[in-house]
Amino acid sequence: MPESCIFCRIAAGEATAAKITEDEQTIAFLDANPLSPGHTLVIPRTHATRLEDMDPETGRAILDQLRVLAPAIEDAVDADATTVGFNNGRAAGQEVPHVHGHIIPRSRGDGGGPIHAVLPRQSPPEEEPEDIAASIATRL
Ligand code: AMP
Ligand code: ZN
Repeated sequence: MPESCIFCRIAAGEATAAKITEDEQTIAFLDANPLSPGHTLVIPRTHATRLEDMDPETGRAILDQLRVLAPAIEDAVDADATTVGFNNGRAAGQEVPHVHGHIIPRSRGDGGGPIHAVLPRQSPPEEEPEDIAASIATRL
């Protein structure tokens, strides 16, 4: 465990957090700077910087926690919906380099935007979509 990683320290019980639930592979706790009440983070116990650094079983466990937690959080804080997402890498805004899924409670008229708002609308790429898709597929 990287000594300096705050989420590893939370996982090890060395730093405090408002914990909601935990299992063998994951821990969920409230974000210390919530965008809305109930803003929750789900992390793997074992340090991994980005999604692709997690082993497949841990990845599945994270998704399962997000799946179960989202409706429970909505219910608890009387929200209409949740935005669920990962900042995967520094250039995408990831500040804590330990994988964490955000569950952000949302309500009609809360002034927030959809995930599409993370970037201004771009003009269509010059490359054909089929070529982009094929280029990705060859790397799997
Ligand atoms: P990101 O930009 O995706 O890396 O988001 C990191 C999130 O972690 C931010 O929303 C912070 O408010 C949150 N955070 C940082 N330190 C703590 C902590 N000790 N306990 C709970 N949440 C934290
Ligand atoms: Zn860590």
